[in-house]
Amino acid sequence: MSETPELHVDTILVSAGRPAAEPGAAVNPPVVLSSTFVADGPVNYARVGNPTWHAFEEAVGRLEGGRALVHASGMGAISAALSVVPAGGTVVVPDTTYNGTGDLLRAFEEAGGRVRRLPATDTAGFVAALDGAALVWLESPTNPLMEVIDLTTVLGAARARGVVSVVDNTLPTPLGCQPLRLGADVVVHSATKYLAGHSDVLLGVTVTADDERGRGLGERLHRARTLGGAIAGPMEVYLGLRGLRTLALRLERASANAAELARRLHGHPAVERVRFPGSGAMLSIDVVGGAEAAERVCAATRVWVHSTSLGGVESQLERRRRHPSEAATVPANLVRLSVGIEHVEDLWADLDRALGAAL
Ligand SMILES: *Cc1c(COP(=O)(O)O)cnc(C)c1O
Repeated sequence: MSETPELHVDTILVSAGRPAAEPGAAVNPPVVLSSTFVADGPVNYARVGNPTWHAFEEAVGRLEGGRALVHASGMGAISAALSVVPAGGTVVVPDTTYNGTGDLLRAFEEAGGRVRRLPATDTAGFVAALDGAALVWLESPTNPLMEVIDLTTVLGAARARGVVSVVDNTLPTPLGCQPLRLGADVVVHSATKYLAGHSDVLLGVTVTADDERGRGLGERLHRARTLGGAIAGPMEVYLGLRGLRTLALRLERASANAAELARRLHGHPAVERVRFPGSGAMLSIDVVGGAEAAERVCAATRVWVHSTSLGGVESQLERRRRHPSEAATVPANLVRLSVGIEHVEDLWADLDRALGAAL
């Protein structure tokens, strides 16, 4: 495509990945439903590549500033990224991460890998733990404690030691943070969340630097996807791109709602603590009265949807420790709120009334 690089991110979201603007051309990329392609073209078999994937990959790659690959889910992307660790290698990771990542790292340990877990805010500890490690895994803010990691320092230290760095950028989205520009080697997303944005599709993405800094990681991740074989369907990827078009608008509303709700929740009699990183559309609250009170609050909402997951247009809430795999560092009374794009007064009225169930 011939778009100029100085386009604003809102414009890239809307325009990237469209077919060339020729008379009569479709404005949207076609959903290509073919498992195989006539020989000697750019793509030969749909486990390796597909034109619908390429449109989505071009868009996400431009947003993150690298080469994007779409995977069947966020966990597919995370599995591909972890596959670059050699047998018996060491991974450095915050002691609280997305719980699927935590489960995968426990399986990695069972298979002989080593994991060093540190509090997310212990920057000096992270830097010290990098010696001899193969890979450092970061997410900021962490899910669901909403702790902020000093990415610039840890990524710089990883680069200086030749340790591969991976950032799960699902929560900030490329609008809030572009880790490749801060020195990360690999970015992963659960595109199921904000990128697709409508709770109707599972997708993942990996992104690597395309220059010499990429250290061949893009090729290794492509091979992991092709040989792992758990690829995304073209229809799902089309929906992901369709959702991506409105990311800036969705986040603008959802973030404004989240900031207002965080402000009002401070000092609420049913709330012990508000965990809001100061930007984005996610926050967590520690509910007065323990786990049972927190469950009563979740069950009492009518506008907020009581469900797992995040990043959709609809507001969602959940007590995270109801999942046995959630980290023990997460308080039992913590409720995670994924703020959607509804009217803030409706969200507040519903939440304020539901919080009454805790008291
Ligand atoms: C949901 C999530 C994942 C996993 O993504 P799936 O699409 O569900 O496989 C990974 N990381 C974070 C931060 C998530 O929220």
